[in-house]
Amino acid sequence: MREAAQGTGPRTAVVVGAGIVGLSTAWFLQEHGVRVMVVDRDGVAAGASWGNAGWLSPGLAIPLNEPAVLRTGLASLLRRDAPLHVPRTADPALWSFLLRFAAHCTWPAWRRVVHANLALNGDCLEAFDALTRGGVAAGTVEAPITAVFDSAGHAGTLLAELRRFTAAGAEAAHTVLTGSELRDRLPQLSARAGAGVHLAGQRYLDPGRFVKALADSVRHRGGTIRTGFDVRSLRAHRYAVTLVSRENVGVSANVAVLATGAWISSLGRDLGVRVPVRAGRGYSFTVPTSTPLRHPVYLPGVRVAVTPYQDGMRVAGTMEFRGPDDPLDERRVRAIVRSAAPYFDDARWDDRADVWVGPRPVSGDGLPLIGATAQPGVFVAGGHGMWGFTQGPVTGKLLAERIVTGKQTEALRPFDPLRK
Ligand SMILES: Cc1cc2nc3c(=O)[nH]c(=O)nc-3n(C[C@H](O)[C@H](O)[C@H](O)COP(=O)(O)OP(=O)(O)OC[C@H]3O[C@@H](n4cnc5c(N)ncnc54)[C@H](O)[C@@H]3O)c2cc1C
Repeated sequence: MREAAQGTGPRTAVVVGAGIVGLSTAWFLQEHGVRVMVVDRDGVAAGASWGNAGWLSPGLAIPLNEPAVLRTGLASLLRRDAPLHVPRTADPALWSFLLRFAAHCTWPAWRRVVHANLALNGDCLEAFDALTRGGVAAGTVEAPITAVFDSAGHAGTLLAELRRFTAAGAEAAHTVLTGSELRDRLPQLSARAGAGVHLAGQRYLDPGRFVKALADSVRHRGGTIRTGFDVRSLRAHRYAVTLVSRENVGVSANVAVLATGAWISSLGRDLGVRVPVRAGRGYSFTVPTSTPLRHPVYLPGVRVAVTPYQDGMRVAGTMEFRGPDDPLDERRVRAIVRSAAPYFDDARWDDRADVWVGPRPVSGDGLPLIGATAQPGVFVAGGHGMWGFTQGPVTGKLLAERIVTGKQTEALRPFDPLRK
């Protein structure tokens, strides 16, 4: 083993990607005494880790690859404003990715993903607590998440999903609420909100603030963060890996970790990582309300997540399969407003601000990629799709242990980046 050859494991690491996954990996490597540098082509939280909904919700981290997604996906190809969007001009590589994803939309594959994710979801909140105990100066808020429906009948699909999810071993205790119980708890809701499903014991946060605080903590503990460093290639030597930037500048360390989110395949392919990762882009914006929202709201019918944020609420939605760097499409934002506005009385939709698009890193088989690549000394962490923020810190913790000890743990086995 490379680490064994050195005797004591790696002393230095360079992490590519300053999102929640890369910075968490860097932070937990520091816990083991490894000196880290984090490089990013842009800046801290420049990818999906800024404007996401900020839910830390193991109880709702239901895998995307359920068979019903195929039906929704096909229907959405015919509707421009559908929450799931695939451009008709999609490139052949995207179609091949979508076919691969479709092949994993079966119940056995779905259950495999639920089982594998138990190791991440079971410890995900504790990993956040480890970060805050260890000096990351941004908190998480414990709160329920309430799913809102037009009527009790409409709640059936989510209730069935939660039953399957718990039957497969996940924890998702929930209660059903009537329309008036809903509005007592969430006075911003309109009369359209006819029934609810309430999940206790979840959390939320301001994701951009948390990632910036995490970066500050990495720096404070002696790490370096280098922005504007776009990694174009890497070379492995005997006890070191050198990453070369677009400007042909090199940085070296004993080990390297690629945590480049939706961009992971471009460098990963040459490292033996065959499961593709594509951008499932989501949009968000902030809407002012006259009274603060007490806790997050989920609108499953229109696939929109709403989170208390600053003086109002952050509204997030859409899964759009386009290039991670494509420009923001205002039509998607208007579609979210049209679908979510009828559920709220107290929200000033026309005063929306912070309009944002970010790329969820969606893997071809619904599982993240966490572990060693075919290139000795080079590791990968990413592809968590809808739940990368929730699972980012625990991923960093497990991968740091894997890197430092040189041992593959059972928990990480299903996420082997070299799987087919
Ligand atoms: C609308 C929306 C809502 C969401 N809501 C939630 C939620 O409520 N809860 C949840 O758990 N998850 C949520 N997610 C998913 C979550 O945001 C992502 O899964 C997570 O942020 C991915 O983190 P990451 O660190 O892997 O990637 P990113 O945050 O995208 O970071 C990757 C970084 O790599 C850098 N990079 C890329 N290529 C290179 C290169 N060649 N050289 C150097 N740097 C490079 C990028 O600049 C970027 O900063 C949501 C996502 C969206 C879009």
